[in-house]
Amino acid sequence: MPFTPHGKHLIAGDWVAGPATFTSDPAHGPAHAFSIGTPELVDAAVQAAEDAFWTYAYTTREERAAFLDAIADEIEARAEAITEIGTQETGLPVARLQGERGRTTGQLRLFADHIRKGDYLDRRHDAALPDRQPLPRPDLRVIQRPIGPVAVFGASNFPLAFSTAGGDTAAALAAGCPVVVKGHSAHPGTGEIIAEAIHAAIDKTGMPKGVFSLIQGGDRHVGAALVQHPLIKAVGFTGSLAGGRALFDLCAARPEPIPFFGELGSVNPMFVLPAAAANRGAAVGTGWAGSLTMGAGQFCTNPGIAVVEAGPAGDAFVAAAKTALEQVGPQVMLTEGIAKAYRDGQARFEGRNSVTPLLSTESQGREANPNLYETDAATYLQDHALGEEVFGPLGLVIRVSGLDEMERLAKGFEGQLTATIHLDPEDATDARRLLPILERKAGRVLANGFPTGVEVADAMVHGGPYPASTNFGATSVGTLSIRRFLRPVSFQNIPEGVLPDDLA
Ligand code: NAP
Repeated sequence: MPFTPHGKHLIAGDWVAGPATFTSDPAHGPAHAFSIGTPELVDAAVQAAEDAFWTYAYTTREERAAFLDAIADEIEARAEAITEIGTQETGLPVARLQGERGRTTGQLRLFADHIRKGDYLDRRHDAALPDRQPLPRPDLRVIQRPIGPVAVFGASNFPLAFSTAGGDTAAALAAGCPVVVKGHSAHPGTGEIIAEAIHAAIDKTGMPKGVFSLIQGGDRHVGAALVQHPLIKAVGFTGSLAGGRALFDLCAARPEPIPFFGELGSVNPMFVLPAAAANRGAAVGTGWAGSLTMGAGQFCTNPGIAVVEAGPAGDAFVAAAKTALEQVGPQVMLTEGIAKAYRDGQARFEGRNSVTPLLSTESQGREANPNLYETDAATYLQDHALGEEVFGPLGLVIRVSGLDEMERLAKGFEGQLTATIHLDPEDATDARRLLPILERKAGRVLANGFPTGVEVADAMVHGGPYPASTNFGATSVGTLSIRRFLRPVSFQNIPEGVLPDDLA
C-alpha cells in the first residue's frame, strides 16, 4: 500500500502536530506538509528520554537486543513503502534504497548480536590485596555504562543507514541510551515511516515510550535547542563542515560541554604508485571514475583527489578516467541546495591559476554532471580552497614529480576519513614510506581498491582527524561505534549483591 505521511513528530509514543508546516521537496512524486519542529517539542522529547533512561539503561542486554531485532523486523515489514517514499524524496534509485535498507536492518541486528556477546563492556577486575604493604589494594571492577539521552541528526545522503534508525541510533540504543532524532528535511516522509517502525517495535517489546522520539526540522532552532539541552549527553552528526562546526561549537560552549561526534568533510586522497600506474594505470583510472560518480558522488568517502606521477603512465590513468567520466551523464542530487553547492564547488576550480579543466561540464537544476581538473603539487599545497570537499562527482588529479613530492603532498593533507594506495609488488618500498604519513591523516587506509562502500563490521573505522570528524578517537560505522555512547565507571569495594548485573 502506498504510504502517505501525516507529517507529525513522534514524541515519546505520541504523534504530535505543530502550529506551522513546511512542504517537502521530493525529486519526483507528490510533496507533503510536515510540522515544523520547535524548541518546546525538543524539551518534551528530551525530558521523556531522561525519564526513560532510568528504565532503559537498566534493561538486560537480551532485552535491548530483542528491541533492536524488532526494529529491523518492523522496517522489513514496511519495505516497499520505505523504498517508494525514499526514492521519491531523495531521487536515489530503487536498488540503492533497497540495498541501504538491508544495510540498516543488518546494522541493527549486528548491534543486537554485539551486545548479546558482551565483550563491548570491557570488564576488568583488580582483586583486593588486603595484605599488600605499605597499603592494601581495594577491589576494583570497571565496566562501560550508558551515558544518557543522545541526539542524532539524520544525514541527507543516507536516508536510512545514517538517519532515523541508522548507525548512530542503533549504537546508542544498543548501549542503553534513549535517542532523540532531528530528522533531515530532505527526507521527512522516510523519517516518519521509519519512526513508525521504531514505535511499533517499542510497543511489541514493552520498552519505555521515551526511548525514541523524532522531531522534524524546518527551523534551525530545532538542532540548536537539541544540542544545547542540558539533559542531552552526546550528539551524532553527519553533514556539512559549516553546519557540523556550528553545532560542535554550541556543544563546547555549554555550561556542561558534551562530546559532538560529527562526521564532516573529506576528500579521501588516492595515491597511484609508479609501478601500479605503469602496469595498470588505465584500469585504475576507470575504476576511480566509477567510485567518483557512484550515487552522484554524494558519499563522504568519495575519492575526490587522485595523486599520480607526471609522464606517460600517469597520462594513461588520466585519459581513462576522463573517458569514463564523459560517459556518465547527469545524475539527480539529493536536494536543490546540494546541487547548488556542487555548482559553487565547481566554480572554485574554473579559471583558477595553474588548474587545468580536463572535463568541464554545466549542471542544471537538481542534476550534476561529472567534472575533472588537474593541477600540480606546488599549486595544491599553496591553495587551500583546492583541498575543500566538493560534494558530488568532481575529481582533481594532482601530478607529482616523484615520491618525494608525493610524500610532501601527503603531509599537507588535512584529516581524512580514508586514504588509498594503489601499489604493485615493485611499489612496496614506496608504500612503506607513505603509510606512516597516511595513518596519521586518515581513519582508514586501504590498498588497491576504492573507499566508497563502507563495510559495517567489527574492524571498521569511519572517522579520522579533523575535519573528517570532530572526534578522532571514534568511528560512526561498525560495532566500535558503540563506545561513543558509553563511559567507563569503576566500582571500588562495592559488594557483589549491589554491583550492576553485568558485573556480578
Ligand atoms: P547540513 O547543512 O550540515 O545539515 C545537516 C543537519 O544539521 C540538518 O539537520 C540541518 O538542519 C542541521 N544544521 C546545519 N547547520 C545548523 C545550524 N547552524 N544550526 C542548527 N542546525 C543545523 O548538511 P546537509 O543538509 O546534509 O548537506 C549540505 C552539505 O553538506 C552538502 O552540500 C555537502 O557539502 C555536505 N554533506 C557532507 C556529507 C559528508 O558525509 N561529508 C554528508 C552530507 C552532506 P536543517 O535541515 O534545518 O538545515
